[in-house]
Amino acid sequence: MPNDPTRELLDLIYNRLLKKNGTLNWWPTTYESNQGFEIVTGAILVQNTTWENARTALASMHTEGIWGYQAVHNTMESRLATVIHSSGYHNIKAKKLKAFAKIISCEYNGDDERFFSHPLPELRKQLLSIYGVGNETADDIVLYAAKKPSFVIDTYTRRIINRLGWKVDGNDYEDYQRLFTDNLKADAKVWGEFHAQLDVHGAQVCRKVKPLCQECVLADLCPSSKKQFD
Ligand code: SF4
Repeated sequence: MPNDPTRELLDLIYNRLLKKNGTLNWWPTTYESNQGFEIVTGAILVQNTTWENARTALASMHTEGIWGYQAVHNTMESRLATVIHSSGYHNIKAKKLKAFAKIISCEYNGDDERFFSHPLPELRKQLLSIYGVGNETADDIVLYAAKKPSFVIDTYTRRIINRLGWKVDGNDYEDYQRLFTDNLKADAKVWGEFHAQLDVHGAQVCRKVKPLCQECVLADLCPSSKKQFD
């Protein structure tokens, strides 16, 4: 069984998942206006919860007219927390949304495209300096809102990698990220689709409890496929 990912192995996995799930075209946006804002806000709201909960909170913000950085900046933190209650951790997420909105409103005149136009390393560095933005959220924003290639690592991806038995040099975010970035040509569209495919696979097939190995398109590549999961 291979335990060191190569370009060929990653391509094989990507193509099998793509064939199984079809093109997913993330990031999923619902509204026509302020799509950059919707992606940023969704990336913060989905922290430590399901996408369904985050989407309900986004819909509440839209219904309440809190739709844009300036609107978030102008809204009392306590009111915003009430509106996004369904996302969980609503008080802290309201603080995070307001921190992000303040920067775009006050330093970029509300124009997130100007912010996203920073070169990738600078953009990522700036994102990580914003309250409430960690590696995963920063890469979601870089990849899907700014459309620059930064591979997103999340719980689903880590779980799949670990079960595939790949050798990872450490347990940090960057250690997992390098497995992809060292082997794949930088391409925001492909990386966005690859992350989406891995997430859907992790949520629907390579589940935390009782993974569906018998119907997994990666089973022949996976040393865990015959394991008894609790
Ligand atoms: S074979 Fe099982 S453990 Fe391996 S990737 Fe597929 S679902 Fe996950």
